Amino acid sequence: MITGSMPPYVFGPGAIQALPSLLEERGPGWVLWLVDYFFAGNLKILGISPLGTDYVIYVDTLFEPTVESVDRITIAVKEWMACEEDLPLTVIGIGGGSTMDTAKAVSILLTNPGKAEDYQGWDLVKNPAVYKIGVPTLSGTGSESSSTCVLTNHAKGLKLGMNSPYSRFDHVVLDPDLTATVPREQRFYTAMDAFCHMREYIHGRDQNAMVDALVDTVWNSFEVGVNRTCFEHYQGRESLMLASYFGGAAAGCTGLVHPFSAGLSMALGLKHGLANCVALAGLSEFYPDMWDDLMDYADDLEVDFPTSLCADLDDGQMRRLYEATVVHDKPLANALGDGWREILTREKVDEIFRRM
Ligand code: NAD
Ligand code: ZN
Repeated sequence: MITGSMPPYVFGPGAIQALPSLLEERGPGWVLWLVDYFFAGNLKILGISPLGTDYVIYVDTLFEPTVESVDRITIAVKEWMACEEDLPLTVIGIGGGSTMDTAKAVSILLTNPGKAEDYQGWDLVKNPAVYKIGVPTLSGTGSESSSTCVLTNHAKGLKLGMNSPYSRFDHVVLDPDLTATVPREQRFYTAMDAFCHMREYIHGRDQNAMVDALVDTVWNSFEVGVNRTCFEHYQGRESLMLASYFGGAAAGCTGLVHPFSAGLSMALGLKHGLANCVALAGLSEFYPDMWDDLMDYADDLEVDFPTSLCADLDDGQMRRLYEATVVHDKPLANALGDGWREILTREKVDEIFRRM
């Protein structure tokens, strides 16, 4: 048996205009806005205007969120609060996966004691989080619908989510026009995250009829989204937003690409979407069909990604890559079964990385 739900949504061009009434329905109280720094000083493009009593923080997305970055924001919010009980009525996360995950994590840490790293893992969050609304401005991660928020923990050498029903947004605003300003490469890399979520899921053993149905339904939208004639237009933005939202249902059942991608992010600082594309290049023996499709999409849309990144790394870097990859038991077992360690020996993992 599985349990789950997708957040209720407002969807369509101009959906962002529904945000004031969603907030009004919440009643009186202040709002914590966590907004991607791309929009700093330019909230008007988004058509939103926080009230004077609200607190707006621009999230620096030069790097993806870490346990430290989330702890720092939580401390700043607590210092800003008049007293311990003066919690925001609503937290809003507006941006790509980095900003939405930051908003989710902060909403949890405002009602749960301790630090972000205490909640990396499965079902560790005890108290409900502050009510939160997600507004994606970049499509692909599925953070807007998933029940996790992924944080890098450099001290422990791992990239791991706070996997909990409390990590799910209570409402989302899906406005495809908000993604119009994303640079082409970034749009492609993050779109390929949705591709990996759905296709790694399909290749895995942890399948269920509900996610099968969602992935089946939305696959056509993904293909429209990365189609050459649609990619630059509203239809492409709309289709990728759907693929991201419904594909997020599969994000908890990934396979081999995500652990290797996490290794690349930890050891070499590659961002998630790009790291997925690079990781897939080394995994073509396991996923030949995915590799062919990735190359076709990239050729068609004339987007490139680096190759030979790992060919000349030293032993220390190879060890870091290995350790940050094999720590992900759940997706590796989903892909290769419980005996995955017999397949992914240290030598095999090195060989795979050397191809990237
Ligand atoms: P991102 O949020 O890191 O943003 C990438 C870049 O795009 C940033 O420079 C940002 O400023 C820019 N950007 C965002 N929206 C823009 C807009 N409308 N116009 C112009 N620029 C814009 O990228 P991402 O790929 O969406 O998120 C990656 C993060 O999501 C990683 O940390 C990854 O681990 C996480 N993730 C989370 C989940 C989940 O289920 N919670 C799933 C997959 C990935
Ligand atoms: Zn992902």
